[in-house]
Amino acid sequence: MASLTLDTAVRFVKGVGPVRAAQLGELGIATVGDLLTYFPRRFDLRRQAQPIGTLRGDEPAATVVGQVQAAEERRFGRRPWFQCSIDDGSGWVLAKWFHGGYLRDRIKPGITLAVSGRVGVYKEYLQFVNPRHQIIFEPSTDRPASRQAAGLGEDELLPVYPAGAHLTSGHIALIIRRGLPELLDIVPQWLDSEFLRRRNLMDRRSAVAAMHRPEDREQWAAARRTLAYEECLLMQLGIAMMRERAVSRPAHPLPLSDEIDRRIRARFPFTLTAAQDRVIGEIAADMARDRPMNRLLQGDVGAGKTVVALYAALLAVAKGRQAAIMAPTEILASQHYEKILAYLAGSRVRTELLVGGQPAERRAEVLAGLAEGKIDIVVGTHALLGEGVQFASLALVVVDEQHKFGVRQRSVIRGKGHAPHYLVMTATPIPRTLAMTVFGDLDVSVLDAAPPGRGKTTTICVGGERLDEVWATVRAKLCAGQQAYIIYPLVTASARPSSPRAPKLGLQAGHTAARMGAQEAHEDLSRGELGSFAVGLIHGQMPPAAKEAVMRRFHAGKIKVLVASVVVEVGLDVPAANVMVVMHAERFGLAQLHQLRGRVGRSSADATCILVASPNNPVARRRLEILQATSDGFKIAEEDLRLRGPGEIFSERQHGLPELKVADLIEDFDLLRMARRDAFAIIAEDGDLQAPHHQQLRAELLRLYGGRLDLATGA
Ligand code: ADP
Ligand code: MG
Repeated sequence: MASLTLDTAVRFVKGVGPVRAAQLGELGIATVGDLLTYFPRRFDLRRQAQPIGTLRGDEPAATVVGQVQAAEERRFGRRPWFQCSIDDGSGWVLAKWFHGGYLRDRIKPGITLAVSGRVGVYKEYLQFVNPRHQIIFEPSTDRPASRQAAGLGEDELLPVYPAGAHLTSGHIALIIRRGLPELLDIVPQWLDSEFLRRRNLMDRRSAVAAMHRPEDREQWAAARRTLAYEECLLMQLGIAMMRERAVSRPAHPLPLSDEIDRRIRARFPFTLTAAQDRVIGEIAADMARDRPMNRLLQGDVGAGKTVVALYAALLAVAKGRQAAIMAPTEILASQHYEKILAYLAGSRVRTELLVGGQPAERRAEVLAGLAEGKIDIVVGTHALLGEGVQFASLALVVVDEQHKFGVRQRSVIRGKGHAPHYLVMTATPIPRTLAMTVFGDLDVSVLDAAPPGRGKTTTICVGGERLDEVWATVRAKLCAGQQAYIIYPLVTASARPSSPRAPKLGLQAGHTAARMGAQEAHEDLSRGELGSFAVGLIHGQMPPAAKEAVMRRFHAGKIKVLVASVVVEVGLDVPAANVMVVMHAERFGLAQLHQLRGRVGRSSADATCILVASPNNPVARRRLEILQATSDGFKIAEEDLRLRGPGEIFSERQHGLPELKVADLIEDFDLLRMARRDAFAIIAEDGDLQAPHHQQLRAELLRLYGGRLDLATGA
């Protein structure tokens, strides 16, 4: 027989025929490698099975193993159950599963079955009700084996595998138990034993074996730690290589001088905060090098990132180069543009805007100015990525990401043949786990303190029954000259007739503005509770020009109340708007609510954020409690990650990172950090993993990332 490899189809494993292979296929197990890494979800401690003849009628936890004699479905009134009798030669016992019809194809006379649970008495019979069970042998498919070989002689850790429609955990356990001795021989060792020993890790072969059949919990934990580390290491190697590629091209060095620093600072009508100074120091150090900066700047809304970005842009300009600042929407690009114009009033720096909706002549002018080097700073949207956008000497790209650009867009602007310094800004605090993974190819700077003189934002959470009070509060604030946002989860409720309606808020159906959709609520509010104020509407389905018009009127104070779908989440800046009401707040995510709340409290006045919700699920309640208790974006981001799990965030970002089977990025943070250090050290030494002792790692990386890392052709 040809020797097995990890890529061999699973049907060639001993004891796996075409039928079992197809059933394994349903679980995503196609190859020998898949089978080896299909790990148990948990282990049950199976107590030593006792002879059925010794069972008493009141045992809280007993385990027996015997042959199934009779099996049938029964029904008493409306309550169906499935039952079988089990005999081990010392006696027999009944096992019953209510609504157990699904067992009819599995538990058949003749099989050997283990059941475990509480023993009771029914009439004069002993019985297990809804016991846990495991099929030990099936005469039709399995050869009989001794009890000893089945591991039934002593207390044992029973692996529980994620089961499929046609395969129980017991079937899978049996296949793996039989196959393992032969298969372990082909498990590759990725890392040498000295490397492993220094990190207190097992060798991969022993670790895989112990994941399936540990001697005890300690051994299993050590095996899991080893495999989790290896997963993290591979991921970090991939990230380190991506980063290496991004920063390996030459860039214009733009060293800062005291004179330039002084001139730039003179542009700002305030002193930079200590946090801004520190971050600018990090950025300037990067930009002084002849390899491109590759940095993420994170800071809560209002932390002063735009100022930092402008500082970096002005440094490039002072060195005779150009800078581009890219925002996710036209509204945001215009806002940045206008702010920058204000800071630069009276200077010779030429700044222009490039967005999709501009007239053709204007666009042609800007393009010519960029190509000839007459424009120093350009602010724009995706339009900056368009064909025909040529720079005379682009040295800095700032992407105000605000969560909207994915990894892919990043590489596009980089791939334009320039090697500009590169700064991504995000208003969403990135938990440290994600900073090392999804954003792991970037250096990270954190603006962790807001400029002084900001008002305080108070967050309160009320149930829907207090909506009348909410509107009274809003009216009072409006009369005092403030402006308000009222946020709804949907644009229009009618688009989703199945969504929960007013009663969710504890209101009578039809109660004004308890609606889900911004459109309907806008009608209600402008005719009802807020009828004496100018109420505007903005939502994600409006054309950009219409949105912009509404925003301008709100900004100018012509509209006092803005009813909005979540569109305002993205970076709008209206300092006079200091009241926010979020309706159906339980429907929003934690990070999203934090972002929304950041729209108020942008001036020296105190702000109010009212979350209206009647959460009846504990996760939603926890979210609202956290928001009420803290405004620390990092705490909120960590909690958000904990509540949602990294999977969701990963998929949102189309990260391109391999799926993790063993490691848990939150729980295994220390392993992740160790793996990251190791991976970056390995890549620093051997950038393309050419060394002979890296060949196994290299092969596995190629398998995980496919061609994406360009390893095959690596220079
Ligand atoms: P972000 O982009 O992080 O949301 P901005 O850079 O737009 O924040 O700054 C928010 C507000 O704070 C702006 O109005 C800006 O003028 C002001 N600001 C920024 N830095 C300072 C500072 N050091 N001192 C006082 N005000 C500042
Ligand atoms: Mg900003």
